[in-house]
Amino acid sequence: MKYVSTRDGDKKEFSSAFVIKKGLADDGGLFVPTEIPELSLDDIAAIAEMDYPHRAAAVLNLFLDDYSFDELLEASSKAYSEEKFGASPAPISKVGDNYFLELWHGPTSAFKDMALQIMPRMLSLSLGKTGEDKNALILVATSGDTGKAALEGYKDIDRVGITVFYPSDGVSNIQKKQMASQDGKNVDVIAIKGNFDDAQTGVKKIFSDSSVRETLAEKGLFLSSANSINFGRLAPQIVYYISAYCDLVNEKELHLGDTLDVTVPTGNFGNILACYIAKKMGLPIGKMICASNSNDVLTEFFETGVYDTKKRKFVTTVSPSMDILVSSNLERLIWFLSGEKVAADYAKGVSEGRYEYKDKALLSDFKGYSCSEENTAKTIKSLFTEFAYLCDTHTAVAAYAAGEYKKQSENKMLIVSTASPYKFAPAVLKALGESVPDDDFDSLDKLFGVTGVKIPENLSALRDKKNIFNTVISPEEMKEKVLAKNK
Ligand SMILES: *Cc1c(COP(=O)(O)O)cnc(C)c1O
Repeated sequence: MKYVSTRDGDKKEFSSAFVIKKGLADDGGLFVPTEIPELSLDDIAAIAEMDYPHRAAAVLNLFLDDYSFDELLEASSKAYSEEKFGASPAPISKVGDNYFLELWHGPTSAFKDMALQIMPRMLSLSLGKTGEDKNALILVATSGDTGKAALEGYKDIDRVGITVFYPSDGVSNIQKKQMASQDGKNVDVIAIKGNFDDAQTGVKKIFSDSSVRETLAEKGLFLSSANSINFGRLAPQIVYYISAYCDLVNEKELHLGDTLDVTVPTGNFGNILACYIAKKMGLPIGKMICASNSNDVLTEFFETGVYDTKKRKFVTTVSPSMDILVSSNLERLIWFLSGEKVAADYAKGVSEGRYEYKDKALLSDFKGYSCSEENTAKTIKSLFTEFAYLCDTHTAVAAYAAGEYKKQSENKMLIVSTASPYKFAPAVLKALGESVPDDDFDSLDKLFGVTGVKIPENLSALRDKKNIFNTVISPEEMKEKVLAKNK
């Protein structure tokens, strides 16, 4: 399987190991596979017989052919172990006549663990496979959740180090504690005086500074990013759609071949794009519902073909991981539908603030809905009072969108659940009509008291953890910190 950049008219091809090491193409485009492997219903029936690590290895093997099946199986067995994910990495809860695919049973209680637990292992292997003699240094600027998920994913991985910068005043107490107490011999966590933008601008500056690259290269290091546009983060997300379909067939909720609609709470468009790829492989997916919060550029796009960020103001919501105006992975969808010329035009248009996609009819597999803050809260409350099912704010956005779409469809619906309700305990408490304690940890206990739903171990254990990292620096000192790194 070869990969090309979404913007490259010459279609220069790269191997899967190179693509995982490299992340983003030199022309700014995203790497995409030149063909989509096919799954027959018989193949799906065979996958349904396997446990999750075998399902992951079987599906990844179709895309990442620089890796042997055994290497992939070893990586997925370690990534999705019972110790890390409990009994099942991606269980389904039936709630009324909907199915919630819970992708948050991993070490940080959010769906990014599904990719970030396995992708660092493949990055590490890619260094040997591409003949790379330098080690990778991952730099992350985080507003909270991605940083912790990346730290957990990259810790103690061979030939890879990770440094996370977070804004000292821009993350919750729980998030701060999660990162400051991180274990692992290759991790570094540094607080920045300033906001998330200051941290992100600092990291971007370091990435584009050729003198930093040269100095690090002399020490045997190269910079890499844990960004969600890496195909290595997308591929593991294809797995759970196929796995969920298999589980529903095994549970006799679906007959093999029945069409399943899927609703995905969407930010950067990575998760739902993985669903699209699974559908293209042959998984019987019907409509893909793209659920957005008040930052609903995508809802407008699927309705009108116009992607317009110019006229919009970024708003902060109770579902912060979806507070995004430019969804990077949409460029991959445009490439799949219309090729590199249109994808390059799209990228240019979006960078200038507006793009109109002329082949709007090709978007008919998708439908977008937007969910207000009020409806997010109402959905959390009604799912809990009617079904005793507690969901987080992001999942609530999806559940609302699914409800809207189901007014016009008979198919069964899979709703993708992306975070534990405890990850966003204050907002969930508020939605339930409860007062919110000042201290985050008290919010966890209170939400438990009100609902009786178990607190994930990784969060309840935090309160007593010791901080290992206490460094606070100004943004100007970030470069110095990075330059001090050694192989
Ligand atoms: C990242 C994230 C999303 C958005 O996923 P994308 O792949 O960026 O569309 C939704 N919910 C939660 C909890 C997330 O962390």
